[in-house]
Formats: sequence, structure tokens, C-alpha cells
Amino acid sequence: MTALTPASATHTSAHGNGVAGPGGRVFNFSAGPSVLPDEVIRQIQEDVWNYKGSGVGILEHSHRGRVYEACLADAEAAVRKVGTVPAGYKVLFLTGGATGQSHLVPANLVPKGGHADFLVTGYWSEKNFEDGKFYGPMHAAANTADRKHALIPGDDEIRYSSGPAYVHMTSNNTIYGTQWHRTPRVPAGVPLVCDASSDIYSRPIDVSQYGLIYAGAQKNLGTTGATVVIVREDLVERGSKDIPRMQQLRTFAKESSMPNTPPHFAIYTVGLVANWILAQGGLAVLAQRNADKAKVLYDAIDRHSGFYQGHARREDRSLMNVTFRCRTAELDEKFCKEATAAGLDTLKGHRSVGGMRASIYNAFPRAGCVALAQFMDEFARRNG
Ligand SMILES: *Cc1c(COP(=O)(O)O)cnc(C)c1O
Repeated sequence: MTALTPASATHTSAHGNGVAGPGGRVFNFSAGPSVLPDEVIRQIQEDVWNYKGSGVGILEHSHRGRVYEACLADAEAAVRKVGTVPAGYKVLFLTGGATGQSHLVPANLVPKGGHADFLVTGYWSEKNFEDGKFYGPMHAAANTADRKHALIPGDDEIRYSSGPAYVHMTSNNTIYGTQWHRTPRVPAGVPLVCDASSDIYSRPIDVSQYGLIYAGAQKNLGTTGATVVIVREDLVERGSKDIPRMQQLRTFAKESSMPNTPPHFAIYTVGLVANWILAQGGLAVLAQRNADKAKVLYDAIDRHSGFYQGHARREDRSLMNVTFRCRTAELDEKFCKEATAAGLDTLKGHRSVGGMRASIYNAFPRAGCVALAQFMDEFARRNG
């Protein structure tokens, strides 16, 4: 351990009353890669040096050895347990991020001459819709672009085509700060595919309502490099066979996510985070915590409704990404600059929305939300 700085000596949760907390850490509102639980970081520090007493660090283990095979099996089991993933579903670890799935899903699931339906509710689902067109004439069953993606469409607004191979949705719109608080109604027998990259395992989920769920790990599940795919086995079997082997979901299902060297550190981290969720008491506990954290920030926006404006329609507000702005772009810039100086980091909104975005995923501490809300109060008082 001498080559490492012991985490316990330097790292406790960041605080917002100065420039940085102990160990130089600040409150990190990054949209992704984003904050990890303290306990997970400590464990990683140990395991990078010597994983489970094996004498070999986790980064250096062969993926074909017994030690790593157990690590991957544990990660898969933990992911299954957290989401109570039912029998008949595979949990796979792929690479290529959520963006890779924007191609792999249609490549596998849209048959020749077929098409799929998209619920276009934000930046990422616009990309899914556009990427999908490479594989067939895709249909936008709803599109909220004309309302700046500030809301989630009601079921009465959705117009499905006839016979789509699947319906694609994005459960949380990371950039616009809206979130589905219900599962959309889909035509009978049509699988629902969900990009859950920015809210997976932030609340209880009924996996049986979906055909396929995918998420890049770097927001709520760990670090970048691994993509988690939870998929119904019959869809894997039904998948296209006339595409390259490494693009077929069945290849990963057959070979336990290891047809080649997997992103083994990222998968290991997903396992740590999934086990951390279990140790917290599971998804119901996290959902309560996340709702409480988000309320601290939305209350601050609403308290100063003449000064701050939230982007999302109230009932569609995301509990993961809180988007808001001041009256002018100059004030937004000043806000971000002064917030950074106060140890509240990475609050600048995405260029397509502007303003501010506070990403407060599972691992983000409540104290950071309280510190930001206090800063918002002061900033509004000084500049109002
Ligand atoms: C971040 C994000 C993506 C992009 O993920 P990559 O892993 O970088 O490809 C896609 N969809 C959503 C909803 C996201 O939040």
C-alpha cells in the first residue's frame, strides 16, 4: 500500500463552504463521467494495488483467470439482484457506450424491410432516431423538439406506426433535464427498448416491461468503458444473423460477455457500485434519497422564480439532472464562475440548452445539493 495514498487519510465527502473539501475534492456536478460513492473509490484504491489478496492488481488480472471470472460473475449477479432482473433476461457487458447501442439495437432487432418507432424527447433520442435510419425507415411516434424538449409527451400524443420492430425511449433526458415518470403505453407485443444511461438504478424498475434496457456505465453505474445491456432472451435469439459476429448480441450472450477481452476494470467497477446500492438498502431507498436531493434544488429554483427559470415542465422534472437558467446568459456565466470558486464544480449546462445543469446521480451527496441551494439563495440576493 505504500505506493498509494490511503483513501481514508485524505478523502471524506467534499463540502461547499470553501474552495475544496478534504483531499482537495469539490462537489462535482458533472453529467458523466461523474461522482462515485466514497466507499467505492476507497475499495478501488485497494484493489488496484492487490485485488482480494491475489497479489495482482485488478487492472493487471487476466480476464481468462479464475479471479477475474469470479469478479465478472459477481458483477452480473449484483446487477441482476439490484434490478430484480427476472429469469429469461440476460445481463451483458459490452463496449461502445450507449452510442454503440444506438447502432447495435437496430442492427440486431430491425429485420430486413422493417422499421422501429422512436419517442424523441431530447438530444440522445434525436441521435437514436437519426442513427436508426441507417437500418430502415424509422418513425418518430412523438417528438417534443418544437417545445424545446421541456416535457415528456402524454400517451394521447403518441402515434405509433403499424408493426414496428420495437419502440425506443430514453428514460431520462440528461441534457434537457426531463424524465419519464411512467412507462409509455406501447402496442401489444411490441418490445420497449430503453436507453436508461442517466437514470438506471436510481429508482425501482420493472424489467419485465422492457425488451431491452441499456446504459453506459459512467453515470449511475460506475466508470466509462462498459455498457450494461439487459435483454430478453427471445430477442437475443431472434436477432439478425447477417451482421458481423461482434455486432450480434448472441455472441455476447453465448460467451458470457467475453468473446474478446472485455472492459474488465469498468465491469469490476459496475460490480462495486451495484453492491454499494444493495448495501444502501436497494432501489427504493435510493429513489427516496434522490427525490429528496432533487427537491432541495427545485425548491431553490421555485423560491426565486423571478430570478431562476427551470427548463423542464414541473411534472416532468428529472431527479438526476436539474436544468435552470438566470435571466441573461451573462448572469449564467457569472453564476458558474462563482460557483466553481465556491467548490461547486461543472454546473455549466450543455450548449444545446444553455444555463446551468446540476447532475445529481445516485452517488452525489445530499450535502452538495444543500450547498448549491444556499449558493443559489445568495447569488439571487446579490444579483436580483
Ligand atoms: C450520456 C448519454 C449517452 C451517451 O453515452 P456514451 O456512453 O457516451 O455513448 C446516451 N444516452 C443518454 C441518455 C446519455 O445520458
